[in-house]
Amino acid sequence: MDNLLGVHALVFSGGTQPEDVARIVPRAAAAGYGLVEFSLHDCRPDAAPVIDTAGTRALLEQHGLQVAASRGLAVDADVSSEDPAVVERGVELVRHSMQVTHELGGRIVTGALYSAFGKAGAPLTDQGRANVVASLRQVAGEAAELGMTLGLEICNRYETNVLNTAADALRLADDIGADNVMIHLDTYHMNIEETDLVSPVLAVGDRLGYVHVGENHRGHLGGGHIDFPAFFRALASIEYAGPITFESFSDAVVMRSLSNDLAIWRTLWTDSDELAAHAYAMITGWQAAV
Ligand code: MN
Repeated sequence: MDNLLGVHALVFSGGTQPEDVARIVPRAAAAGYGLVEFSLHDCRPDAAPVIDTAGTRALLEQHGLQVAASRGLAVDADVSSEDPAVVERGVELVRHSMQVTHELGGRIVTGALYSAFGKAGAPLTDQGRANVVASLRQVAGEAAELGMTLGLEICNRYETNVLNTAADALRLADDIGADNVMIHLDTYHMNIEETDLVSPVLAVGDRLGYVHVGENHRGHLGGGHIDFPAFFRALASIEYAGPITFESFSDAVVMRSLSNDLAIWRTLWTDSDELAAHAYAMITGWQAAV
């Protein structure tokens, strides 16, 4: 397996200010990774970008790193809402995140682009789902003009009511009907929602465009009960060639808004460099063993 290996920026620093980026990029490269994924959680279309896109892009290039970005939407800017004004703000938020990612030099923007991030109080409605389909079809058309891909990250029931399983995501992607909308699997969420870690990979097949590897507790890779050898064998069996990004969170590194949404209340690790290097060794070991 010869995938580009990435690391989530929150392994190293909690924000996307220049001082955060200066901490993140060199350390991601030093740990062996070829890609950094930034969370654009603190970017909004009605405010100047927090992240210095030109400076970040230059630093990434200096260290030979590629970039991807991810985010969830917000309660007041949510394409799965029934309120047209909230939906329109959701479209603006996805569009803005796509443009920031493009300025960073990235081609993939992913995450919960289909709903507000957090525990829903009721099931998704038919009108809400229709709004997701129409909204993401519209932004996917704009993304295609920039050569960009939108990911549907499958998240667990406590973070979204739009899609929790690979089957949900395949149905939604079918309904959106755009070639540049791909599916993003995350082992942490799969562990909660799927029957196993292999059948969703086989079901998604060549529509898999991005992968997060995270433990069931979101700490050190290999320190939980996720069956990574089986998961990597499944990726190899579908000849998955896209990025594989390590995702882990600890209250040792905090972006308060995102950490609250992700329920990061514990100190699962304190040494980012050790965590990242360890994860890199685990991933390459699992890849070599398939
Ligand atoms: Mn994830």
